[in-house]
Amino acid sequence: MILVTGGSRGIGRAVCLAFAEEGKEVAFCYSKDEEGAAETLRLLQERGAGCMAFRCDVSDEAQVKAMFAAIPSLTVLVNNAGIDLFAEIAQTSYAQWQRVQAVNAGGTFLCTREAVPKFLRRGEGCIVNIASVWGECGGSCEAAYSASKAAVIGFTKAAAKELAPSNIRVNCVSCGYIDTAMNARLSEQERESFLRSVPLGRAGTPEEAAQAVLFLAKNRYITGEVLRVNGGLAL
Ligand code: NDP
Repeated sequence: MILVTGGSRGIGRAVCLAFAEEGKEVAFCYSKDEEGAAETLRLLQERGAGCMAFRCDVSDEAQVKAMFAAIPSLTVLVNNAGIDLFAEIAQTSYAQWQRVQAVNAGGTFLCTREAVPKFLRRGEGCIVNIASVWGECGGSCEAAYSASKAAVIGFTKAAAKELAPSNIRVNCVSCGYIDTAMNARLSEQERESFLRSVPLGRAGTPEEAAQAVLFLAKNRYITGEVLRVNGGLAL
């Protein structure tokens, strides 16, 4: 079974559907979005995929443990669940800072930690983390988010080295601007202005990000890689 965190909409949903279209059984989690989760389940069932949904906050150790205990066997973990924070450093509370780290970096760690024993039992495993161009370059007014995604990239590389001898691969997809609810706070004018800085001149789709995840899951000789899906941003 594939487990995708944050599968109730956006990139996570597209990843769930991409795996379902490959005939895989898919489990996903979400923390609040019941309606979105029901829609993802419906779309998975429509594709004939075996599927499970968990209401699980990835930053909550007990909830993560309970979710992994309910998953019979795991082949691929996609650490996609994430939140952003658009705020100047001087206006960011410590609680806001900690929440972003807890979900984006902490959730990636907690889910990876629970996945490893399952992969060790199988003798193989694959983890794909979703990072961000801001984790590579730093986004102005997104310091907490950028730091959390830089942590995801560092964690990916360290985990890849540590787990390679156990035949567990760990990679990440570093996304640029992908059209999802996460970017809904931008006005049409801000969106267009940002997209002018993207060499390919447009936003990416959740499906384009999902295809990169699928590629990393399939290619068995890639580990520790940061695959950019960003339209040439930050080249
Ligand atoms: P969305 O906001 O559309 O989706 C986020 C998903 O994560 C939802 O399913 C949400 O469900 C879930 N989620 C959020 N917090 C938690 C939590 N604590 N526990 C479990 N699930 C949670 O965002 P995107 O699809 O755009 O983002 C997906 C990933 O891609 C994120 O990691 C994001 O940082 C990254 N990314 C996105 C970019 C973009 O331009 N869109 C660019 C670079 C990276 P619920 O609300 O129910 O919790």
